[in-house]
Amino acid sequence: MSIILGVLSLVVSIALPVVIMIFTDFQIIHFSLFFIIPAGAIAVGYVCGFGFFKGLFFSQKKIKKPHLFIGVLMAIICLVSIKYTTYYLTCFDGETGDIVYTLDGDHISNYEIDGYGRMTFINYNKYLIENTPITFSRRSQQLGEVSNPTFGWVMAIIDYIGIIVGCLLAGLSISGGNEYCDTCSKYRKSKKIFNIPKANGKAFFVELETLVKDMNMDVFLEEIIQKHVSKDKKTEEYYQCHLVYCEECRTAFLKFKLFERSRRNRIEENNNFNYSIKVNYDLVRNYINQNVA
Ligand SMILES: [Zn+2]
Repeated sequence: MSIILGVLSLVVSIALPVVIMIFTDFQIIHFSLFFIIPAGAIAVGYVCGFGFFKGLFFSQKKIKKPHLFIGVLMAIICLVSIKYTTYYLTCFDGETGDIVYTLDGDHISNYEIDGYGRMTFINYNKYLIENTPITFSRRSQQLGEVSNPTFGWVMAIIDYIGIIVGCLLAGLSISGGNEYCDTCSKYRKSKKIFNIPKANGKAFFVELETLVKDMNMDVFLEEIIQKHVSKDKKTEEYYQCHLVYCEECRTAFLKFKLFERSRRNRIEENNNFNYSIKVNYDLVRNYINQNVA
């Protein structure tokens, strides 16, 4: 499955930028944000790796270092293929003096440029990198254009690395967002089950820990949750609880994320907060069986 999906997304990641370029002349892999972040390249890399890593996930394979290495190779294949397809289609229109992308034109390899020689694949790309002016702009105000060979190479390398980074990001986001059960060699399932207002958090966690320690306790998880979940919906800062479980070895965890007001005055996840507690599978079976939003 990972091979089929991998090839599929690799093909899409090659074809899409080429098709866009043919119709709009826009080179997506050289599109950057704030002039330095290779957003286009990262997006292409992400698409490139997405199928492969998603396929591993679907077939319950743990994403490991060798897979990431394959991801890097795929990113390189993707980059070279985009460059080569583009080159293959690059023709020179003698009448207008423009570059056109077509199959039946006067191919660029029939031409020579001083200092670069015949426009072979390598020479042509070298020429493009060293001679494409890079536009500085800031808040829609153009600051100027530079065309400097060293600078061109730096920008090109940033874009190339962007594709690799994008591809690895696909792998890391899929493996990072899903926990793996090593005992059963499959991904654990996860569902969001409730939110607790931040103010009630401390008391809730104390009760939860007591409950988990003492299985014979006459209190059920539902009761504690009912007690602490806020009645009025408008709770600003809260703990979000995800139930992470493996049906095969019947293990379950409650994982909490904290959402609070950040310095930017927005409710955001606090990444420093990390709380996870192993619970008795039977204790949460109701949650597993019912469809909680
Ligand atoms: Zn398991």
